[in-house]
Amino acid sequence: MSTTYEPTQKTQVRRRPDRGNYDRAVVHKIIDKALVAHVAFVENGEPRVLPTTIVRIDEDVYIHGSPNNNLLSAIAAGAPACIEMTLVDSIVAGRSGFGCSMDYRSVVIYGRAEQVTEPAEKERIIDALVQDIIPGHIVRRPKRKELAATLVLRFPLIEVSAKIRDAGNIDVEEDYDLDLWAGVIPLGVAAGPGKGCPRLKPGIETPGYALNYKR
Ligand SMILES: Cc1cc2nc3c(=O)[nH]c(=O)nc-3n(C[C@H](O)[C@H](O)[C@H](O)COP(=O)(O)OP(=O)(O)OC[C@H]3O[C@@H](n4cnc5c(N)ncnc54)[C@H](O)[C@@H]3O)c2cc1C
Repeated sequence: MSTTYEPTQKTQVRRRPDRGNYDRAVVHKIIDKALVAHVAFVENGEPRVLPTTIVRIDEDVYIHGSPNNNLLSAIAAGAPACIEMTLVDSIVAGRSGFGCSMDYRSVVIYGRAEQVTEPAEKERIIDALVQDIIPGHIVRRPKRKELAATLVLRFPLIEVSAKIRDAGNIDVEEDYDLDLWAGVIPLGVAAGPGKGCPRLKPGIETPGYALNYKR
């Protein structure tokens, strides 16, 4: 397998193509770090977008939800979808409004969903999702009826692009002489210490992965 995704008519980054990236390892890293994905599609001629959690296993990404979810059902029925994830690394404070920007890493995926129907496979995907979001967390096994009541959709990573801005300040040349502050403000996900559920059984301590969560 090639180490890069093949750019297509749809995934070719046109503006600032130097920021486009099709490297599998780079794309995987962005998907794995993102906590939220947006899934877009067209239903009855109207645009729809759904924020959701996502997990990658090898060259597939998975989303899940209730079969009663209208939007998920439309995607499950084969509507072409587009998935996006963004990590904002820094706010860029420029010397003009047009010089203000963000450093980011984002991924766009195009494709159609395949439904996962096998209960053991659904369980494996839900386990992977839990470990992706809360590494080290232990949960009970899912019940058959819980698995049956969950729609799990797989999107193979085929038509994929990443775009990365890692440029900091880019102002128009004459603006560098202005007496104005400019710079970058780094951003990240900051977690507070985990707080136990009020209904925890006595004697259960908060584990280290919840006290010192890092992403
Ligand atoms: C946090 C953030 C802020 C941004 N702010 C602005 C802004 O203010 N103004 C602005 O014009 N642009 C902004 N962008 C960039 C924007 O996402 C597009 O890349 C850009 O507007 C259009 O690029 P294009 O002409 O190549 O897009 P198109 O020609 O519309 O896209 C062609 C293909 O390139 C790929 N592609 C394009 N953009 C991205 C991306 N960001 N990530 C992954 N794949 C991509 C997709 O596969 C897409 O189908 C921002 C991006 C991020 C993540």
